[in-house]
Amino acid sequence: MTIEFRKQGEVFSFQDNQGNDIERKTEIRFDPLTGESSRLIFDPGLKIQPPDYTEVGKETCGKNCPFCSENLLKLTPLFKREITEQGRISQGSAVVFPNLFPYSKHNGVVIFSDQHYVRLEEFTIEMIKDAFLAAQTFIQRVAALDSKAKHASFNWNYLPLSGGEYSSSSYTSNGFRFTIKLSKNSSRKSTRV
Ligand SMILES: [Zn+2]
Repeated sequence: MTIEFRKQGEVFSFQDNQGNDIERKTEIRFDPLTGESSRLIFDPGLKIQPPDYTEVGKETCGKNCPFCSENLLKLTPLFKREITEQGRISQGSAVVFPNLFPYSKHNGVVIFSDQHYVRLEEFTIEMIKDAFLAAQTFIQRVAALDSKAKHASFNWNYLPLSGGEYSSSSYTSNGFRFTIKLSKNSSRKSTRV
């Protein structure tokens, strides 16, 4: 099956109040696996300034944060030995430990690095790779232990009071079920072609 990243441009033509022609271009991009689409606009009509969380980052850092390196080993819980002898799963700078407030039968929290506040432009390939590999290890350990835990999801929250999270359950989430259905339709279509 060849994966094709398809995009389609559209132009909206209209006039300003003096009767001059205006053309505005938009673009639709299609997910090759699910067929879902997203739209891009090239001029939103306003300049969006991302908020600066530097001060919030300083206030919530270090002794005030259970996930900073000085607290992580003292304040975060441990997996049972059947998941890992060490209690937590580490990969490079990423660490996975149990979610104290779980959303499913198996639920890990992934901390990407020991850097408390990571600006979007500071994320490195290495950090993201470590986080995904650590989550993958947890998925594999859970799958080996619990044959009913077939549906794994990885959700990434960002900014204050958030972290990455992995969960695995016997039941699918609504979004996951929808994606599986679309993926099956899409692969059937590709096979036919
Ligand atoms: Zn922290």
